[in-house]
Amino acid sequence: MIQRSDIILQLHRRDVKTVAVQAPEGLKREAVRFAFDLKREGFRVIMSGDPCYGSCDLDREGPAIADILVHIGHAPVDDTNKVIYEYYQVDIPKDSLREGVRHLSQKRIGLVTVTQHLHCIPMIQEFLANEGIVAVVKAGGKRTPHPGQVLGCSFEAAKAAGCSEILYVGTGLFHPLGVAIATNARVIALDPVTGIVQEVSAERLLRVRFALIEKAKVAEQFGILLSTKSGQRREELARFLVSLHPSALLVTMNEVTPDQLYNLGFPCYVNTACPRLAYDDQGNFPVPVLTPREFEIVCGVRNWEEYTVDQIP
Ligand code: SF4
Repeated sequence: MIQRSDIILQLHRRDVKTVAVQAPEGLKREAVRFAFDLKREGFRVIMSGDPCYGSCDLDREGPAIADILVHIGHAPVDDTNKVIYEYYQVDIPKDSLREGVRHLSQKRIGLVTVTQHLHCIPMIQEFLANEGIVAVVKAGGKRTPHPGQVLGCSFEAAKAAGCSEILYVGTGLFHPLGVAIATNARVIALDPVTGIVQEVSAERLLRVRFALIEKAKVAEQFGILLSTKSGQRREELARFLVSLHPSALLVTMNEVTPDQLYNLGFPCYVNTACPRLAYDDQGNFPVPVLTPREFEIVCGVRNWEEYTVDQIP
């Protein structure tokens, strides 16, 4: 739920006249309703219509023509000066935790979750404590400033917990797979919406990545993708990757889509934009799209044994 009155108070305090509003796809309609609330409060309002995938993907046009951007659905990554971040809180039913406990094998575990459930961490810790389980919650890196927070591009909070068993609470399997590869821990994923609890295995994903690396070894050219999105732009890394191979070329892009990759015609790409693209969208891409570390393996500067999941520090 959007904390309307809090945001309106902040906007009045800052003497804001014009507000830009941005939200990810699943929250856009609620964001439009919120935009109308702001309009009724007397603000001039601009609604961002472009796709938005994370707080790494701030609308730069909005703040250019408004006094401030209200970015809904994600926690801060950078630039809090002209941006108000309003992350969306989704409660976790206590009952869904019971099944999770049954799958845990240790009395001291790491606990991580995604942004919308962060406010539930004390409740989960208390629930586990009543079952005799200590849940270690640690802060991650710059990108995940909240203790226990993981993103699809940062699993540092899971690593920092330093536990050989980790409970991930949230929907989807990408995050717990990332946690498993990043930590080598046993990872239990508890989906609070479906109530499904499972131990994740990264084996299949790793087999696919290994096959892509082998395929890429015979590619004659490589497009090194450099994002123009504010929080996904890893320019130093992209330039380093270009330096590794005489047939690598830097390719700037805002949206990385199958059509764009097809039209450019490279037989292989290396993704330095959002790390999830290479993993989640590979099935839609016409050719292999490697992570930076995978490309290093292709170029012979790393071994497969050093494989780890791509993250943005
Ligand atoms: S880089 Fe990707 S995973 Fe990270 S915050 Fe942005 S959209 Fe999410």
